[in-house]
Amino acid sequence: MARPTHVKITEVGTRDGFQAEAKFIPTATKIRLINQLIDAGVPRVEFSSFVSPKAIPQLADVVDVLAGIDRSKGTTLAALVPNPRGAAGAAAAGVDQMVVFVSASESHNQKNVNRSVQESLDGLGEIMRIASIDSIDVHGAIPTSFGCPFEGDVSLDSLGRVVASYRDMGIMNISLGDTTGMATPTLVTDSCRYLQDRFPDVGITLHFHNTRGIGLCNVMAGLDEGIDSYESSFGGLGGCPFAPGATGNICSEDLVFLLHEMGIETGIDIRKLCAVARDVETVIERQLPGQVMKAGLRQDIYTMDEGKSAIG
Ligand code: ZN
Repeated sequence: MARPTHVKITEVGTRDGFQAEAKFIPTATKIRLINQLIDAGVPRVEFSSFVSPKAIPQLADVVDVLAGIDRSKGTTLAALVPNPRGAAGAAAAGVDQMVVFVSASESHNQKNVNRSVQESLDGLGEIMRIASIDSIDVHGAIPTSFGCPFEGDVSLDSLGRVVASYRDMGIMNISLGDTTGMATPTLVTDSCRYLQDRFPDVGITLHFHNTRGIGLCNVMAGLDEGIDSYESSFGGLGGCPFAPGATGNICSEDLVFLLHEMGIETGIDIRKLCAVARDVETVIERQLPGQVMKAGLRQDIYTMDEGKSAIG
C-alpha cells in the first residue's frame, strides 16, 4: 500500500486533553485556543463532548464553546456524543459531526458506560435518528482497539464486530482509539489490513496515545497501510486513566513535523501550531511533552555565537 501524500489531522486536545484537567479552563480560553488551531489550518477539531456536566465538569461549557468558534474556514467541528440526550444537545447546538463510541473490549465498555458492547450498539439507533433529522454526519470511535487494560489483547474479530455494526448503521468513518497506549506497529499493521480487507468502503482514522513512547512509530505503520487520517493533541496533552503521570495523546506538532519532513501535506502551519501548544502550557501551568515546540524546526538556523559547544 502506498503512503498517502496528504494527511488529515484532527486536533483532540480540548476534548481528550482537557477532560483530564482538574482545574476548570475558562470558556473564553478554550475558544481562543480552538480559533488559533483553526487559524493554523487544522481541518477537523474534536472540540468537546456532550456528556453530563456531572460526569466531566471540565466540558460542561460545550454549547458556549461552540458558539464562540470561528466557523468561517469550514473546519469540521466534532463533539463526542455518549447517548441520545447528548445527541439532541449536539444537534441543537449545531455541531458539524457527532462522534459516537463503543469499545472493542467488553470490560472497557462496561467500565466506561456501564453497558455491554451489544447494548451500546443497540443504543446507537436513536442517536442516528436524531442526527439524521438535521443531516449531521456521525463518526464512530472505537476505544481499546489495540488492547484493553482489563483484558489485554483485543481480538480482530471483536474490533470487526463493532466496525460491521457501525457500517450497517451508515457510519462510514471510524477512529481506532488506542485509549491506554497499547498499540504497537505490528498491531496497527494487522488491524488496518484486517479491516481494509473486510470493510474497504469504511474510512479509518487512527487515534494514538504516546503512553509508551511509540506513538509516532504507530503512525508510521499506519502510513504504510495507506491510512491518511490521524487524531492528536496539542503539545501531547492528555493522560492515561490507569497510569498516573503517563503521557497523553500523540503530539500534534510532532506529528505534523514528521509528516512534513516526509513530504506529506497537512495544510497546517506548524509554527502557528507550536505557538498554540506554548499557549496551552501557560494555560495549564506546566510543561507539555511535545518536542518540536521546544526544539524548533530542523532547519532553524542559529548564529555560531549561539549555544554552547559540546563534544558529540
Ligand atoms: Zn484518546
